[in-house]
Amino acid sequence: MPRRTLSLANWQWLQTITKKEKHMSQENQLVANPSHCLSRRRFLAATGVFTAAAWLSPRGLFAESENIVLAARKRAGTANITVQPLRRSVSALVGSGGNIAVLTGTDGKVIIDSGYATSRARISDALAKMDPGPIKHLVNTHWHFDHTDGNEWMHSDGATILAHENTRKHLSTTTRVEDWDFTFPPSPADAIPTEVFDNEKTLYLNSTTIMLSYYGPSHTDGDVSAYFVEAEVLHCGDTWWNGHYPFIDYSTGGNIKGMIKAAEANLAKVTDKTIVIPGHGKIAGKPELAEYRDVLVTIHDRVATLKKEGKSLEEAIAAKPTAAYDSKWATSFITGDVFTKLVYIGA
Ligand SMILES: [Zn+2]
Repeated sequence: MPRRTLSLANWQWLQTITKKEKHMSQENQLVANPSHCLSRRRFLAATGVFTAAAWLSPRGLFAESENIVLAARKRAGTANITVQPLRRSVSALVGSGGNIAVLTGTDGKVIIDSGYATSRARISDALAKMDPGPIKHLVNTHWHFDHTDGNEWMHSDGATILAHENTRKHLSTTTRVEDWDFTFPPSPADAIPTEVFDNEKTLYLNSTTIMLSYYGPSHTDGDVSAYFVEAEVLHCGDTWWNGHYPFIDYSTGGNIKGMIKAAEANLAKVTDKTIVIPGHGKIAGKPELAEYRDVLVTIHDRVATLKKEGKSLEEAIAAKPTAAYDSKWATSFITGDVFTKLVYIGA
């Protein structure tokens, strides 16, 4: 059985690599080692998520290509950014990493998640076309690079950065995500949240109440939602991947049970009128949120039963507990097998 800490990209190949290679793959990587990399040709552009094939490819096959984190950042430099007006003064920017929410008005822009730094020019362009006002407040839904890479430039332009205290913790220190085979160095000073909160924080800006709520450990240990009360728009961060199996970052405190709890919390918060912004995937509403919750619960129950019966991870994967859902949900870098693994760990 592969070690829990081993990269998803690598674990299937554990038995075939040498001890020396294993040592190299796990130690002292402040940047990605090209020998572990996956092909940039295999990255999916539009939604900012990666393809399934790349995730489970054997290392070595794509020796001259790049690590998935580096490739995603590079790809974002040419990604198109689409503006989607939602309701009242709330819009979404789609196309650079996680979905970004924007509230405009005389108090300056309030932004939820900052996308990739490599998309700076395109994000700036899109924001300037919306409204000439400066960015005054930035909220991070969690610490992941595809939601926080733009922190530094937005803060340099004058924005305060608000986040959960665990998000600041992960951005402030060296943080390794085994499943991405990548170690993030501490973020630059300007990218670190300037204000943190524990459970709840309410802002009132641009005639809009913005409620920030901590989920508890779910996708990571620092996930928060942002609810624009008068507009009835909820940004769920990466507790919701609409139409994709979600990534769950166990290396920084995420787990499947927390993901299900977060999905329940999102459902409890919305009405038929609420516009819901997922971290990844199309902006939608309550029916799609409910469907996602049902997928998580059903797959968790199946995998938990297999685990209770004493099935190993390999046996659980071989039982294909996600099969009925794969054609609709295995649409990013999380295949049915990878998702089974992510669920099995925490089931
Ligand atoms: Zn994330």
